[in-house]
Parts: sequence; C-alpha cells; structure tokens
Amino acid sequence: MNIIRVFMMVLVCWALTGFFVSAEDTDDSGIHNFTDESMPEDFSRENEVLNQVTPARIITGDEAKNCDTRLVLIGTTGGISWYPETDRASSSSVLIVNDSWYIIDMGQGSAAKLSEALNYGDFMDTPEGRVETGSSTFLAHANALFFTHLHQDHTADYPSFLLIGAGAGLGTKRDPDTGKTVYVPLKVFGPANRGTLEADKTNFSARGGQVIYTDSSNPDLITPTPGTRQMTDLIWQAFAQGINDVTLDDGYPDHRSLIEVHEIGGTESGDIPFPGIVVDPNSDSCPEMDPFEVYQDDNVRVTATLVDHHQVFPSIAYRFNTKDGSVVFSSDTGPDTKGNLQKLADGADILLHEVIDRAWIDLKFGTPVPGSQMDALKTHMLTSHTANDVVGSVAESCNVTTLVLNHIVPGNTPYAHLLVAENDFPGEVIIGEDFMEIGLTRDTD
Ligand SMILES: [Zn+2]
Ligand SMILES: [Zn+2]
Repeated sequence: MNIIRVFMMVLVCWALTGFFVSAEDTDDSGIHNFTDESMPEDFSRENEVLNQVTPARIITGDEAKNCDTRLVLIGTTGGISWYPETDRASSSSVLIVNDSWYIIDMGQGSAAKLSEALNYGDFMDTPEGRVETGSSTFLAHANALFFTHLHQDHTADYPSFLLIGAGAGLGTKRDPDTGKTVYVPLKVFGPANRGTLEADKTNFSARGGQVIYTDSSNPDLITPTPGTRQMTDLIWQAFAQGINDVTLDDGYPDHRSLIEVHEIGGTESGDIPFPGIVVDPNSDSCPEMDPFEVYQDDNVRVTATLVDHHQVFPSIAYRFNTKDGSVVFSSDTGPDTKGNLQKLADGADILLHEVIDRAWIDLKFGTPVPGSQMDALKTHMLTSHTANDVVGSVAESCNVTTLVLNHIVPGNTPYAHLLVAENDFPGEVIIGEDFMEIGLTRDTD
C-alpha cells in the first residue's frame, strides 16, 4: 500500500512539473558552424571560488572519503570487448562536490558499479539480518551527466542508467525545506550529430556492409550519426513497452521528464555551440581552439575543448573547477591535440587520461598488410589513443600535478607496462582502479 501511495504522489508531482525534450534537427551538410551565442542564464553566473589557482592537496586511501570534493572511479578500462582476468568496468567516473554528483561517461558495466560504489541505502537491523527500509533514491545526488564522445564503451550503460535509474531517484531532489521529493531533471551533456558519416577507411561498403540509419517519418530525423538527444529519444522508443507498463500500471513519472539533454555543438535552445570555429570532421576533427564554457552551478565550473579521437567527432575533454581543486577528463584522444588539451588542463590538479599499452597493440596486430582492415585498426589504436610510453609526456606538457591513468586498454595489462608513464612525468602517477576514490582539498591542515 505504501508503494502505491508513493507512486500516486509521484504521479501528482509529475503532472505539476513534467515537460518533454524535443527531437533533434539534424544537418547533413557535414559542416558545423559554431557561433558565440549567449549561454543559458545559469551557465554565465560568475563564482570566483571556482576560479582559484592555489594547488590542491591530493588525498588517497580511506581519507579521501572525508573530502568535500572527491573523484570516484567507477569504470577504468575501455574498448569494445570484455577482457578476461579483470573486473574493470568500462569508462565512467563521478566527481562528487558537496554531496552533488557529476558523472562522466557510462561505459559497459558502469551502471551496476555506480550503485555498488555509492548506493548506501537505509537499513535497520533485525534478528534475521539487515533489512532495507525504503527504495533506493541515490541518483537524486546526480546533478549532471557528461558524455565525452559517443563510442559504445562510453555509452553502453546509458540505457540501464535511464531505465533502472527511473526507479532509483533519477531526476529528483529532496526539497531541503519540506523534505519532500521534487522533480529536477538531470542535465545530460553530450555530442551533437556528427553531421556526416566517417570516411570508409576499412572498405566496409566493398565488404558488403551497409550503414545503419535511424528510422523516422520525419526526414530530418533520418541520420547515420545521431547525437545525444536523438540517441536518448531512441532509447525511450526502443524500451517503450516496459516504460509504458510502469508508467500506466505502477505510477512512474514520464521518463522523458527525468532528464534534460544539452548537445555540445548543437543548435537547439540550451545547446552549447563551439566558439567561433567551423569544422569539417572528415578533414580535421580537432582544430586548434580555446576552451569554452559548458556548465556552471554553485559547485562546479565546467569548461571543455576538442581532442583528437579521429574519426570520432566530437571527442570532448572536460575540466571541472571546484572550490577544492580542478580535475580534467581527457576523453579518448591521441597524444597530439594541437595544444587544445594543454590549454584546457594548464595548472589543473588532476588529469585523468586514457592510456593504451603499446606492447599489446604490437602483439595483437603484428605487422598488418598495408591498407588492410587490421592496418586501419592498428593505426587507429596508435594515433587516436595515447600509448603508455607517451602519456607521461602529455601530462607533463599539460602542467598538472597528478596523472591518473584511466581507460586502461587492455583492462588486464600488467602494472609494469603502465608505470612507464612515470619516466616522463615529474608528478605523481596513479593507476586507476574501479572504486578508487581520490580527494582534493585546499585546506592546509
Ligand atoms: Zn573508449
Ligand atoms: Zn572512443
């Protein structure tokens, strides 16, 4: 009966607060025209405490949990596979600031690990054991989700996050005055439509392959490169039978009201354009640029830049400035970003950077026939990712104090291979592990 009452309340709240996200307008020209349009109101607020340059102290081990600001690694591998002899999930991290969460990517295996790491619940002790006293609402802590790019190993658990999150506090907050649950959509930031297909460098068409297009009665929505907004809409459509059941039978809210998508490089209201540049992703997916602002609230100021994960476009690195220090997420990228990552990360406290093991690439691919599919894949691995013997010098050029190795490929590679990063980096190198927590503080005691 309690559950029914709760869902009836949810239904009433939804009726008062619901809204719909709209479908994306796509542009097949392949050319992105980005302008300096004014940001939505709450993006432009100044908060000087978020622009401090005093270096932070980095806190590791159990003490990190006591920090107001801490980085929680959820998934620390990458790639489109599962690796044996490792339990690493694929890319996902949470930056926690004052009990508010900012999630970066949702790779395969990360949704369950997000719950394992941060879903504490309320329990009571009984003679038979501990019993949870209510339903999970832990995702009410999440303020925003940021996608670096739309490769599967960064998005595969997004459907789980949306579908199961609807029953675990997604898009809600507790009103501190009344103690009641109110609906505040989670902000989702991610790439806009790429605008044009990648060049066929692996002779896919000649091999008999056919490109997948979205299906719609609206010609503007038929595209082989849907962006974050359309990807989200299509998840709701793909799972409509189950979603409609729990909304009509169990009183769940309209799932679409739980999130609010803002596309980076998009052109709809609330989207974030790249500043003042024109990009043809098939000739140059990482033009030189200055960092631009994506989002700001009382806890974080988020800026971003393009990095080089060709042929993916866009691949977006993010910097989070907080009162306690700054953290940069590299996204997937080759080592040469034309200085973009260096400009974004300059003086940051932590750089979370992807890494791939060169020895594994050599073992896996050997010396492929030039022009073959394997040759294309090996070239991708070495120029669109950053090898273990190069990542240290990238971090050094970024002028950061701590390098956290993330998106470790393969996930089962030996530590000794990763530690070569220390050779070219004078700061601290931390090898990321799922569930690792790293605190930041500017307090001196
Ligand atoms: Zn990846
Ligand atoms: Zn990728």
